[in-house]
Amino acid sequence: MRSALLDLVARITDDDLPAYVYDLPGLREHVHAIRAALPERVELLYAAKANSDPRILRTLAGHVDGFEVASGGELSHVRGLTPDAPIAFGGPGKTQTELTHALDAGVERLHIESEHELRLVTTLVGDRIVDALLRVNLPVDLGQVALAMGGQPTPFGMDTAQLDGCLAVIAAEPRVRLRGLHLHLASGLTAPAQLALVDEILTWAEDWAHERGIDLAEVNIGGGMGVDYARPHRMFDWPAFGAGLRPILARHPHITLRIEPGRSVTAYCGWYITQVLDIKVSRGQAFAVLRGGTHHLRTPAAKQHDQPFEVIPDDVWLRPWGRPGAHNVPVTLVGQLCTPKDVLARRVMVKRLRVGDRVAFAMAGAYAWNISHHEFLMHPHPTFHHVDDVEVSVPGTYAHQMS
Ligand SMILES: *Cc1c(COP(=O)(O)O)cnc(C)c1O
Repeated sequence: MRSALLDLVARITDDDLPAYVYDLPGLREHVHAIRAALPERVELLYAAKANSDPRILRTLAGHVDGFEVASGGELSHVRGLTPDAPIAFGGPGKTQTELTHALDAGVERLHIESEHELRLVTTLVGDRIVDALLRVNLPVDLGQVALAMGGQPTPFGMDTAQLDGCLAVIAAEPRVRLRGLHLHLASGLTAPAQLALVDEILTWAEDWAHERGIDLAEVNIGGGMGVDYARPHRMFDWPAFGAGLRPILARHPHITLRIEPGRSVTAYCGWYITQVLDIKVSRGQAFAVLRGGTHHLRTPAAKQHDQPFEVIPDDVWLRPWGRPGAHNVPVTLVGQLCTPKDVLARRVMVKRLRVGDRVAFAMAGAYAWNISHHEFLMHPHPTFHHVDDVEVSVPGTYAHQMS
């Protein structure tokens, strides 16, 4: 953990735990490195659904080309925080109210999910102009991926055979301008897998457009850049991805490639900090019961992994009885919920973990708090904290530095 984070965590009182801590300077460095790795002709959007914390969005705003939103709520939220940032509005099941809102807000792109949705847009567009991408579920073989949004029957986008119907609707409504195609097919991809997919998508898209005499300006390949929770230091290889894109893009000189990652951008900047309330051995297995749990950090339950963590020891023990602890044994870290599913990490070796020690769960910056069932059991919500460079100049507070 970076020392700026540790300093901040030290100032959080026990009563303010659990706490989410977001490392904004770390996020800024990370997104800067992503941007620097990508060729010029790639536009980088951030998928707001991964984490729409206001200060995270404001931190990203200067480094991305825009935001992808997937609901009217996200649209209002992002527009309110970053009024000038381009917004792409996607997602299945858009209501008429949401589409009207998007048209009124002048979204930069509308990602169309079906012919029905397109027809609805033509009835709402009025005298406005909207730039659209058709979302396609291309029949590709994705192999083993974390989540498949395409390449098989799904509710996302449309079959290739359904695109011609959309072209006919667009031909009759010049205020809906077809800019290109959108294909968010999978998540959890490594850089080589993502590159192979981009290559296949662009080759198919150019052929498809050529056969129809369409001027294809852009292709959005979605997000899904892999995040490996078992190996936190093995990040998606952005430099390899950027380098691999150059020859692919050279074969498609007229296409602007757009990407809209979420998880791989913000996962690493977030920490969920909590504390050991009790330690017990049940039939030979050690359990540490923590403040909070999967109602705050649902990611490990949703994805069935062990959330990586660091122990922050607290050596103060004032009780007159012996301090419960686990030493050099596998421990299962659970929360306060009355369900066996409330597990954050299962049978993980720890050197030393005692009641009162703090536990900092890493990689809690994406699909973490915002996907959790906060009200289940009515425990208090966590507190939220941000490490920010701005505080460097304030005497007596932590400085931003690498640990
Ligand atoms: C969720 C989603 C993303 C972001 O996916 P990540 O796996 O978080 O990178 C991008 N585009 C669309 C259409 C999505 O639904």
